[in-house]
Amino acid sequence: MPTCIEWLEERIQECARTEDQGYRDCCDWWPCNWACSAWVWVTNIVCVAWTWVTTVVCVAWDFVTTIVNAVLVTVESILGWVFSVLGFIIELIEMIPVIGTLIRWIINFITFLIFTVLSLFDALLGLLGIRPEKILRVCTVILRDEDGNPVATRAFAKAMLQLAADIYKRDANVRIVPLGPFKYSSGFFGADTVDDNWVIIDGANSDNTILEVPCNASGTAAEWWLGGTLFQWKASTLCYYGAWRRVLGYGAPVTCFIIRDVTGSLGCALWITDYATIKGEFTLPPTSPRTLGHEVGHASNLWHLCVDLDNRNLMATQKGIPVISACDPTPSVTLPDRSNPRMDNAQVLLVRASKHVTYF
Ligand SMILES: [Zn+2]
Repeated sequence: MPTCIEWLEERIQECARTEDQGYRDCCDWWPCNWACSAWVWVTNIVCVAWTWVTTVVCVAWDFVTTIVNAVLVTVESILGWVFSVLGFIIELIEMIPVIGTLIRWIINFITFLIFTVLSLFDALLGLLGIRPEKILRVCTVILRDEDGNPVATRAFAKAMLQLAADIYKRDANVRIVPLGPFKYSSGFFGADTVDDNWVIIDGANSDNTILEVPCNASGTAAEWWLGGTLFQWKASTLCYYGAWRRVLGYGAPVTCFIIRDVTGSLGCALWITDYATIKGEFTLPPTSPRTLGHEVGHASNLWHLCVDLDNRNLMATQKGIPVISACDPTPSVTLPDRSNPRMDNAQVLLVRASKHVTYF
């Protein structure tokens, strides 16, 4: 069932709850109680009517984007390889240590500004309750160690991808799709089912330059040196199809590298880069099934939230953000629920405004 219609039922129930609350809050002397009841009755009708109007707009929008998407995906499937030659050449320059990283960060920041401004109108509609389906492309790569062994199982990556696909669709009406040609999508269907084709196992071996990268200042320094060069090289070659989008920024795929160890953490994403790293494992379920969705969240404008506010939140951590929403006491004693994540409304708006999240 289209998510727009699933939300219709949810929001009409919300109108009813607001109505009950309104009657409870009414005064008990006449004519106050009469005027109050009339007011509650009218606002409920307006609430239900508005919900219907926004749902019709949402479904119509999904209908139009399904058709336009079908045409554009077909064109891109044929021409994307050619566009990406140019993208690849620019990405080769972006692989040069220091200067290439500087160019990449500047381009990424400019395209972030442009596409965030362009999505303001869509964000406004989202605030009004009109939230048609958008797409987020991911390219997931499992690295191989020095001996040629993959650092995680395909099943591990698939479990994380499926959880991310399910919650982005459910909470934000964002469809996560694997990067590649002929990936048609439509708001009239539920989240995609992740299969083996979503996960690429790198053909080459790697060493500690990219197999073990900490999520701190020294990890950021690596992004400016050989680490950045190697991650960019692998994204450009293994996820070549997305090169032109990565350079242009519009619908840029997020590359998720499964590496051996994110020293001291389970995953890392620097927001300004188009890639994230995730610590690989061999057992199921993953220690933290939400990690891939969490890191893609960072790449798509989300930052941490203190676990005390909502331990199930996708971005909940024990530290929160210093000053803005730091946990009190720091670090919090509550543990985040990493198996059952969700996003709040503000996060949905931020994710949908990301340049990685687009209609086409
Ligand atoms: Zn994080």
